[in-house]
Amino acid sequence: MEFKRVMVAGSGVLGSQIAFQSAFFGCNVSVYDINDEAIAIGKERITKLIDIYAEFFKDEAKAKAAFDRISFSSDLAQSAKEIDLVIEAVPERVDIKQDFYQKLSAVAAEDVVFVSNSSTMLPSQFAEFTGRPEKFLALHFANSIWQNNTAEIMGHPGTESQYVERVTEFARSIGMIPFVLKKEQPGYILNTLLVPFLNAGLTLWAKDIADPHTIDKNWMISTGSPRGPFGILDVIGMETPYNLNRARAELDPAYGVIADKLKAEMIDKGKMGASTGEGFYTYPDPEYMKPNFLKQN
Ligand code: NAD
Repeated sequence: MEFKRVMVAGSGVLGSQIAFQSAFFGCNVSVYDINDEAIAIGKERITKLIDIYAEFFKDEAKAKAAFDRISFSSDLAQSAKEIDLVIEAVPERVDIKQDFYQKLSAVAAEDVVFVSNSSTMLPSQFAEFTGRPEKFLALHFANSIWQNNTAEIMGHPGTESQYVERVTEFARSIGMIPFVLKKEQPGYILNTLLVPFLNAGLTLWAKDIADPHTIDKNWMISTGSPRGPFGILDVIGMETPYNLNRARAELDPAYGVIADKLKAEMIDKGKMGASTGEGFYTYPDPEYMKPNFLKQN
């Protein structure tokens, strides 16, 4: 059976995009958030996506129709009525997610499948709270879902394979390219590769071995990649790498040096990345995209 009625829990950065993407590809979507204020903010976020989808897919009518397929509620039982699938995109905190799954399992019908969009946690951390461990797995999207359309799919040891298959089909049906992992892995495929890569760049910078533009230029010329670690960091924004390195500093002070430098030289100066007009580069025309960048040093 296809999933056509989807509840998205959390209407933040990713939840709003997942809701719109699902509606754009024909699902009826109920968006749940914690209270009416959060719903109002989520609705505003989702409204802004109409233009983005209209332009990206060159189809204004379809983008407007997508918005009309989305309903909003801060009443969990109401949101969870007559749905096939719940996509959880609530904050990246174990206590919040556990509490959410417990409450959701009490109101969602038995046959509803739950998936988590968590970037760093594993489905096995939450399976026992879902009341349906065999119908629970991770479905992880990337930011700017309409263009960065990967969907990483990862079960825990108790997930039944038929649900992995159905979620994979669902991901395809909403325009994603699915990647099914054979086992649980923190960070999936993408972040297992990306996080150490970005941190290697940040380490070279924090140790004052080379400056960000030099590091990127070397990487780009040597490998033919369109961006180096600092160009990528600008797209992600400074918040996530700062939080990650700050948290890891408890285990290794070298991460603290990176966090301190990110704070002093970027965050405190308002250089939060591409979305704010300045990060390691200035936008909209970052130096690394200019033809001369790769021609000289
Ligand atoms: P966010 O902070 O932008 O949004 C979280 C939303 O959840 C908010 O609207 C908040 O009001 C709501 N919320 C808070 N408590 C809640 C509760 N108890 N029940 C329901 N909703 C609640 O966060 P985000 O960046 O969208 O991240 C959400 C999830 O998506 C996380 O698990 C994160 O790891 C994952 N994710 C984020 C990104 C990203 O680039 N931001 C990328 C991939 C995956």
